[in-house]
Amino acid sequence: MKCIICKSEDVVKKKVEEEIKKGKDVVFVPVETLVCQNCGEKYYDRRTVRFLEEIEEKVKKEKVTLEAVGRVLKVVGIH
Ligand SMILES: [Zn+2]
Repeated sequence: MKCIICKSEDVVKKKVEEEIKKGKDVVFVPVETLVCQNCGEKYYDRRTVRFLEEIEEKVKKEKVTLEAVGRVLKVVGIH
C-alpha cells in the first residue's frame, strides 16, 4: 500500500508499542501494524483498533498483567 501522508510505497508491517494512558501512568501495548518507513505514519486495521480498545477497557478494569519497564519523568527545573 501507499502512504497517504508522504506517498511513499515503503509501508511495512512492524511491531510497535502503542501508548495507553491510565490515570497519570502510561501503558505500552505491543501490536503489529503497518508503518510507513519514510515518515513513520502508522496504519491500524479495524482488528487492531478493536484490540486496542479492548485492551484499554481491560487496563481500566485492571484485568491485565502489567510490569514496570521504566519511569516516566518530567522536567521541572533546568540547571
Ligand atoms: Zn509516509
